[in-house]
Amino acid sequence: MHLMKRILVTGGAGFLGSHLCERLLGEGAHVICLDNFYTGAHVNIQHLRDHPNFELLRHDITHPLFIECDEIYNLACPASPIHYQRDPVQTIKTSVMGSVNMLGLAKRLKAKIFQASTSEVYGDPSVHPQPESYWGNVNTIGPRSCYDEGKRCAETLFFDYRRQHGLNIKVVRIFNTYGPRMHPNDGRVVSSFIVQALMGRDITIFGEGLQTRSFCYADDLIEGFVRLMNTPDDITGPINIGNPGEFTMLELAQMVIDITGSKSKIVHMPLPQDDPKQRRPDITQAQEKLGWEPKVPLREGLTKTVNYFDGLVKNGALEGMF
Ligand code: NAD
Ligand code: UDP
Repeated sequence: MHLMKRILVTGGAGFLGSHLCERLLGEGAHVICLDNFYTGAHVNIQHLRDHPNFELLRHDITHPLFIECDEIYNLACPASPIHYQRDPVQTIKTSVMGSVNMLGLAKRLKAKIFQASTSEVYGDPSVHPQPESYWGNVNTIGPRSCYDEGKRCAETLFFDYRRQHGLNIKVVRIFNTYGPRMHPNDGRVVSSFIVQALMGRDITIFGEGLQTRSFCYADDLIEGFVRLMNTPDDITGPINIGNPGEFTMLELAQMVIDITGSKSKIVHMPLPQDDPKQRRPDITQAQEKLGWEPKVPLREGLTKTVNYFDGLVKNGALEGMF
């Protein structure tokens, strides 16, 4: 009989996974951090390695897993276009076969299971802002499809496992999130602009820069995860978690320049294929069902993130990366 709750976090050595592991350890759980280190990094979890309740498991979730635990947070999946398009087949396998394996584990253990889904299930949305009831506008055969369709299929699997096998599931749709331990070279807009500004390089805006995104600070997001996981069984989601503050890429670039005091110039580059024009979460459900809303304003979160990247620049961790 285990008195301490054992929680499996897949993708635990990634950006969001490492914040989640830290939070769960802080709450007194025993954390099993699983990762295949495809985009994750040992340095993200370095500070947790000596914690007596932290356990690291190197494993790829496209293969079955036999362990014992009480709860599962399934975060494993490369998240940025550069990373998920590097090996599209592995990306879709991670979402589909990985979900089947984790759901199978949850079924055997009767464990509650959480899925990190994404706003990308809405594709290039024709409804704005996006409520959970919107079914999306996704290209099935484009370069982003391995990620978008993989995540859509994972949601289907979660709901079928619930209907067919009575699993206790929790599904969140995450909107763009940023914070310390983001990948410096994953091509995401926040990390790109900050690194460019700190290194005095041109800031690359794709297209005119009038496309919008909503950016949620990592700590706010993790609070939403934990709240959803602790809701009664009838609350399954999918539930949007994100920050409804909407900014154009031009506004973001300007804010990063202000915070860093950089002399970088803004340059315009071609817009990638299937790049959504706008994205903003409707978080009514999260407010009503979880009593959750984001607390950290963009400027404050960006300042913390700039400090993190500034540390990497100063200790030479980014040398040779660009
Ligand atoms: P990340 O790339 O930092 O983390 C993903 C982790 O999963 C990495 O550590 C990677 O090594 C691991 N992984 C990948 N494939 C695996 C496999 N087959 N087996 C085991 N481990 C594997 O990305 P993140 O930003 O922390 O994203 C975490 C989750 O949140 C992902 O599922 C992502 O789709 C979702 N999400 C993130 C965002 C965001 O803005 N960061 C937005 C929407 C959804
Ligand atoms: N973007 C940009 N310059 C960059 C990287 C991204 O202008 O150097 C734009 C990109 O075209 C998109 C937005 O920023 O419109 C957000 O891109 P990101 O890859 O961060 O997230 P996603 O498109 O998946 O929401």
